[in-house]
Amino acid sequence: MTPLLPSPEHYLQNLLTMTSPEAKRLWRRAIKEHFNCQCVYCGESYELHELTLDHVVPRFYGGETTTRNLVPSCRKCNQNKGTSNWLAWMRQTFGITPREDLILSHIK
Ligand SMILES: [Zn+2]
Repeated sequence: MTPLLPSPEHYLQNLLTMTSPEAKRLWRRAIKEHFNCQCVYCGESYELHELTLDHVVPRFYGGETTTRNLVPSCRKCNQNKGTSNWLAWMRQTFGITPREDLILSHIK
């Protein structure tokens, strides 16, 4: 969650003093929180540190490291999906689920 600071000036200060690794950590955390700390593939809930970020379109196929191409995934799903097409893999593994729409609206 976003830290609760005493005044707007504190947020500005925080923003200006943020280092690149901190910004990256915050970004990664924001993506996980956006999906309520659930693996988008199996739908299970996890602690922040247990979740990985999966490239929906694998880097191997030119998938970019941007918010629209990253979703939280448990290690097991991330590993099993590998370089497969996400939708084909997901349907094969879990059948058709509403989580497909979550991903589709995130990546478009
Ligand atoms: Zn999973």
